[in-house]
Amino acid sequence: MRLVLDGGALVSNWRALDRLSGDASAGAAVKADGYGLGAAEVARRLAAAGCRDFFVAHWGEAQALTGLVDPARLAVLHGIAPGEEAAATAGLAVPVLNSAEQIARWREAGGGRCHVMVDTGMSRLGLNWREDVAGLCAGLDIDLCMSHLASAEEDTAQNAAQLARFEQARQQVAARRYSFANSAGIALGTGYHFDCTRPGLALYGGVPCDELADHICPVMRIETRILQVRHVRAGDSVGYGATFVAQHDMRTATLALGYADGFKRALSSIGAFRNGDARLPILGRVSMDLTCIDLSAAPALGEGDWIAADFVLPEVQAATGISQYEWLTQIGRRFDRIWVD
Ligand SMILES: *Cc1c(COP(=O)(O)O)cnc(C)c1O
Repeated sequence: MRLVLDGGALVSNWRALDRLSGDASAGAAVKADGYGLGAAEVARRLAAAGCRDFFVAHWGEAQALTGLVDPARLAVLHGIAPGEEAAATAGLAVPVLNSAEQIARWREAGGGRCHVMVDTGMSRLGLNWREDVAGLCAGLDIDLCMSHLASAEEDTAQNAAQLARFEQARQQVAARRYSFANSAGIALGTGYHFDCTRPGLALYGGVPCDELADHICPVMRIETRILQVRHVRAGDSVGYGATFVAQHDMRTATLALGYADGFKRALSSIGAFRNGDARLPILGRVSMDLTCIDLSAAPALGEGDWIAADFVLPEVQAATGISQYEWLTQIGRRFDRIWVD
């Protein structure tokens, strides 16, 4: 099994997002192992293309990027928990301080350059905009003051409300730079860009909103081999639970790929593979390590041949109701990750 990863498409997506960010420069969210694609390979390519700011969630993820990106421009979004003082002051990366406790811990540990997250209405992580943000941040050496949009991919009043609160925080927090927009936030327009944007999903071929659809290319292709070709007779069933019963004799293939690889059961009976223009539907349930498809439309394919899934992130999200973020970040570890440029 292999994930064929298009480095040219990744860079082209970053360039498009950087361009759409106007005067701001686009960074890259590479947490969760680069949304499943491989953070080191992603960061190396984006750094070579000119991307400077990188965002991970955990210190371990920052460690994995040592030598690939400038540690002064690598941000750890979860900040500094008790016991992480040594990691945070070792110069691996810069913590994003999210609470009064984290700020106190950072000062106690010796401080230095940091980032600050202000929660402008997501009630998740960051200094509450209703708090005395100015007082909490006084004296800190802040590079990025940031906030995160809750509903950037939707046309909702929450975006403008968060923006107004962020503008207010900006008056109170002295920082070198300000950062607000994720992928979908970039499409909300200039007012949301500030100095640095933080796309993740769209770098990897996810399309969070229609405005980005024309700018983003797919990066990941799922390929696997045909393990066995079968001749199923009318009335035979396929797979667990016998949810597919053949109406006529047909040629099927059993593929090495299953839900243990992040090829989720939600694709059972609705997903497909591709051979040129021919669509080869999944038959019955996706199993842990195996998936069966209708091979009738691909008579030339046989045992041992490679075949690609019909897997376009926004389409798969629409068909299954499972978000593009989950599809990407839960893609399996058993794939060979093969980068083509
Ligand atoms: C994950 C994350 C991003 C990237 O968001 P996308 O929707 O994937 O573009 C940006 N900022 C923060 C704080 C994040 O946690």
